[in-house]
Amino acid sequence: MRFVDIKEQLNNESGLRVIDSILNVGFLAAIIIDKDTHEILYQNKKSIEYFGNIAGKLCHEALCTSEQPCSGCMLSAMTGNVAIYDCYMKTLNKRVRWMYSDISWFDGRNAVYAKLVELGEEDITSDAKWKYLKDMDQDRRDTDSLTHIPNNNKFFKNAEEIIKKDPSSDFAVVLFDIDRFKTINDIYGMTKGDEVLLHIARVLKDSFGFEDNYGRMHSDLFAYIIPYQKKGEIIKQIEKLRKKISRNDFDFDINTSFGIYLVEDKQVPINLMCDRALMAVKTIKGDILKFCAFFNEQYRADMLKANEIEKDMQASLLNGDFKMYLQPKFRLSDDKMVGAEALCRWVHPKKGIIPPMDFIPLFEKNGFILKLDEYMWEEACRTLRRWIDMGVEPIPLSVNISRYHIKHNDLEAIFTRLINRYNISSSLLTLELTESLFLDNPEELNRVMSGLQKMGFRLEVDDFGAGFSSLNMIRNITVDTIKMDKDFLDNEISSDKGKIVVNHTIDMAKDLNLQVVAEGVETKEHVEFLKNSRCDVAQGYYFAKPMPLDEFDKLLQ
Ligand code: C2E
Ligand code: MG
Ligand code: MG
Repeated sequence: MRFVDIKEQLNNESGLRVIDSILNVGFLAAIIIDKDTHEILYQNKKSIEYFGNIAGKLCHEALCTSEQPCSGCMLSAMTGNVAIYDCYMKTLNKRVRWMYSDISWFDGRNAVYAKLVELGEEDITSDAKWKYLKDMDQDRRDTDSLTHIPNNNKFFKNAEEIIKKDPSSDFAVVLFDIDRFKTINDIYGMTKGDEVLLHIARVLKDSFGFEDNYGRMHSDLFAYIIPYQKKGEIIKQIEKLRKKISRNDFDFDINTSFGIYLVEDKQVPINLMCDRALMAVKTIKGDILKFCAFFNEQYRADMLKANEIEKDMQASLLNGDFKMYLQPKFRLSDDKMVGAEALCRWVHPKKGIIPPMDFIPLFEKNGFILKLDEYMWEEACRTLRRWIDMGVEPIPLSVNISRYHIKHNDLEAIFTRLINRYNISSSLLTLELTESLFLDNPEELNRVMSGLQKMGFRLEVDDFGAGFSSLNMIRNITVDTIKMDKDFLDNEISSDKGKIVVNHTIDMAKDLNLQVVAEGVETKEHVEFLKNSRCDVAQGYYFAKPMPLDEFDKLLQ
């Protein structure tokens, strides 16, 4: 290769034109790089086609997505005037040859003219060819096809090596994913989603360089392994990564959730370590205040328990193991039973009676609550029909409506079908919605609720006073009843000031024409207080616990 000194012959502007005309002939990609700073001074059209517009960027950042000049980089290490470097370029998915020659740039800077030749099979000797094909194949199997960083298998192998090589160090396996990545794909398209993944891969590469201690597990899940001395170092590193990830040109925020597994037993297979880190990620999903969590053995126990429950829930629903219990409600003015709440009990064939708190939150997460609630509503309707058929005066039943239904179900259609099928009046059903629902999305809730109310169902705000709602907010949503939360009642009536708060809450509710129910009424003192406070109805252990149907039937006769 000839030593080119363009400087002597050309000034900058006309020089660039001449360079353009020379270097755009033929089909080779070519770039000119400042030898000392590694800045890309020039690129021809073919290289723009290959690498995008990278002029002005640093060579290692643009071509190798690395923060530091690559170790063993040919540029500064060139000893003669020319050099040749064969490699497999992941970004192009091609075996290539870089041919470098020293040149002097217009302003006298030392530069390198780098020309890229794609290697055809004929360029490779048979030995080298075999090795090349093997490398290519291995590379393909080890590399994530989108981001060109190690895939899960390669990461597992690398992590194992890293741990083996350094037996005296402590290691942490960290997994993270992008919050609501599916929404990014849905709203901005898959291509944008891919760009986000590439951005994250670049951040990992920048941060860890050639250590190969990271990888993409699948979809938006990434992992890395690092040695640590104190837990704080791991968190600091996570904070740095999150910062780098959030620094980007996208029109939306990219938030990430991290799970950390501290490697205590180095014999545990890496994929299990990753599973544990992932469990930790799952515990903070949806919690905007938390961005990372350490794995703890309790998660595993909880998840195993949740898995077991999930395994049984479907069969239990079909077998009728979910039972409706009824807890009566009493009018305080004359102690007459004026209604009952339907509460679910899981009578498990092996585990006995499981209380709702052990399965409702899980069903709300996995969506099974939609089926269970519908089943409970149907049980309530069936019971009302049975009472009418028996000639017994039916008392209104209230059923709980999980927050999940508002978004995922057509409540009007379901309840219309139910009252038609069982031929009962809608006034016999009260729908209980928890207070927190009213904070979430009042407009949507209002739309659904007013539809149901027009159909004649009574609406009740459950657990009133447990959160931050106020009667002022309830004013905007038409409900018929508020049911004061047990804890609210307990806390408030234990002090004189609290009693005033409850009294005024009840007064205000009555002024708004709302019926007031108190739940969790346990003592005579509660009852006396509530009677004096104009509370309408009470429900609680003082009167009766939730009971199975056959027991409840006896109360009606
Ligand atoms: P909730 O709707 O607020 O129901 C009242 C809870 O208070 C019931 O607990 C009831 O047994 C309990 N309770 C009633 N009186 C007293 C009392 O005097 N003292 C004490 N300490 N507790 C009392 P349960 O049956 O364990 O249900 C807990 C929660 O689970 C319910 O709270 C409701 O939010 C949910 N739940 C129960 N069944 C269903 C269902 O079928 N569907 C849905 N979506 N949620 C349900
Ligand atoms: Mg309730
Ligand atoms: Mg309640």
